[in-house]
Amino acid sequence: MSVVSRRRGVDCPAIHLNLNVRGLPLSSTLAINERSASLIASGRDVIKLGLGQSPFPVPEVVVEALRANAHQKDYLPVRGLGRLREAVASYHSRRHGVARSGEDVLVGPGSKELMFLIQLVYYGDLCIPTPSWVSYEPQARIIGRQVRWLRTSASNNWGLQPEELEALCKEDPDRPRLVILNYPNNPTGYTYGMDKLRRLADVARRYRVVLLSDEIYGELQHDGAHRSIAELYPEGTIVSSGLSKWCGAGGWRLGTFTFPENLRWLLDAMAAVASETFTATSAPIQFAAIRAFEGGDAIEDYLHQCRRILSALGRVCADTLRRSGATVGEPDGAFYLFPDFRRFHNQMRAYGVHTSPELCALLLEDTGVATIPGSHFGRPEEELTLRLAYVDFDGARALEHAALAPPGALSEAFVREHCSRVVGAVERIASWAESPGVRQTLRHRTA
Ligand code: GLU
Repeated sequence: MSVVSRRRGVDCPAIHLNLNVRGLPLSSTLAINERSASLIASGRDVIKLGLGQSPFPVPEVVVEALRANAHQKDYLPVRGLGRLREAVASYHSRRHGVARSGEDVLVGPGSKELMFLIQLVYYGDLCIPTPSWVSYEPQARIIGRQVRWLRTSASNNWGLQPEELEALCKEDPDRPRLVILNYPNNPTGYTYGMDKLRRLADVARRYRVVLLSDEIYGELQHDGAHRSIAELYPEGTIVSSGLSKWCGAGGWRLGTFTFPENLRWLLDAMAAVASETFTATSAPIQFAAIRAFEGGDAIEDYLHQCRRILSALGRVCADTLRRSGATVGEPDGAFYLFPDFRRFHNQMRAYGVHTSPELCALLLEDTGVATIPGSHFGRPEEELTLRLAYVDFDGARALEHAALAPPGALSEAFVREHCSRVVGAVERIASWAESPGVRQTLRHRTA
């Protein structure tokens, strides 16, 4: 009997999958990256605006620290290396004016993993604005948590309004909730001003929600003036950060959560699960991360140039899309735009595009530009939105030239010269959206 059922398991694997993961595809960000890579390998010229990977190299001082620590081979403490936890705490105290100690920090192999762990250990609904980053919702579903989407609108740059959060909390005031707020935002590039953060913090406090403030793009706010909601709701806010975006080290896989002292029980529960799963984060990477979180002039200069480039490029891309008739918000930070092509509804329908997945699939097919459909961020399928990550350029070269350019905002000419693939791709998107019927011409051009 056991042999038979084991065989059945092999023959009909789907039956033996946990219900929560049956039919679960690869995460959209990674799937588009792999699809782009395989198209490139087959000879297509694909412009990769799909995966949100920093175009910039890791700062040399941090690479140097990694080199110097390549020999570190021991398992490190589950919660993270003591000196790193101290460095992360003092980074947050310094940058955000919120007093935290090393004891408040949990280090993991990417903030994504920590987000999964918090949902696993915290028994409450996951509340996220629509649109939100592609992985929050699938993580909740894998674990079996209830997901509540919070409405937003394009006219508010897709930002969460305090009234929406309040309306949800009022439905059942004592229900435990984990609210994720992400700013500068993936997928929109929008960030909240201090007034809006204050009003959101007031609602969060009133209903005692656990607020996970995903600030992984904080250092990439284009004006360099990122503020944390932890300043305003310190007792209930966990700040998520890491090396992936501002330090250009996505592949190093290091993320951090910084807790208020009264949520230490949550940190401890996550550490217990970590000890039974990933054990500890890679030792050499943790030693190198100390250098990154310590900051200093070299890192400040690097960040200053990264921000100048992203700010100028984001503006050129948004203007190009807007001129063509797409609706798109002004980018405040990170490297994303979330255009809405509703204006082109008629020509899209005539061309066979009824949904955002169809929009992105045909766009890739016709123009060679890879993007991610708005529906993967929690928007309705029939809404013609997509996310583009303006990252397909040589970040090292752009940094070198930005350092030589006169101070102040970088010019459009700079962006056209050093980020030409991205600018060209956005122009292709704009002209394709205006007349999607001309796909043969475009296909020839990219071939
Ligand atoms: N955060 C990045 C993005 O949204 C990619 C990293 C990932 O999904 O793991 O494209």
